[in-house]
Amino acid sequence: MSELSELYQQVILDHNKKPRNYRKLEDATQHAEGFNPLCGDQLMVYLRVEDGVVADVGFEGSGCAISKAASSMMTQAVKGKTKDEAERLFEEFHRMVTGELDEEQTPNGLGRLKIFAGVREFPARVKCASLPWHTLHAALAGEVSTSTENLGPDIDADRVSA
Ligand code: ZN
Repeated sequence: MSELSELYQQVILDHNKKPRNYRKLEDATQHAEGFNPLCGDQLMVYLRVEDGVVADVGFEGSGCAISKAASSMMTQAVKGKTKDEAERLFEEFHRMVTGELDEEQTPNGLGRLKIFAGVREFPARVKCASLPWHTLHAALAGEVSTSTENLGPDIDADRVSA
């Protein structure tokens, strides 16, 4: 576990220093804004969808290290994927960070995103990690904004009291 958390910290630091796809897409076909009032994370996700494929993706915003790294890695993960594949990643990521899947059940398709599995131990951070994915989901659905406030009890993952 300590090896994993070391990797986790390295990856978070790396993506904070050099966030991938950190730019506004001028030719975006859809975009959405996401807000996590619990932490103050705010971001905009831009997508250029062509023939059902996420041809390009970018993000802008401000937030904590986890939300920024999660955004950066989300853009890497969904670029070139079909909308359905991107939605599936969203669902798997969400189930992983909320603790619905334990480590053995976590699909290998998540690849490096699996380092975020550790946030399930920190309920306040679950929303930071999942915000970019909820924002992606909103953008894919053609919604313009989403807030973790409106996401219902599943994402609250109130494991402190559990
Ligand atoms: Zn945050």
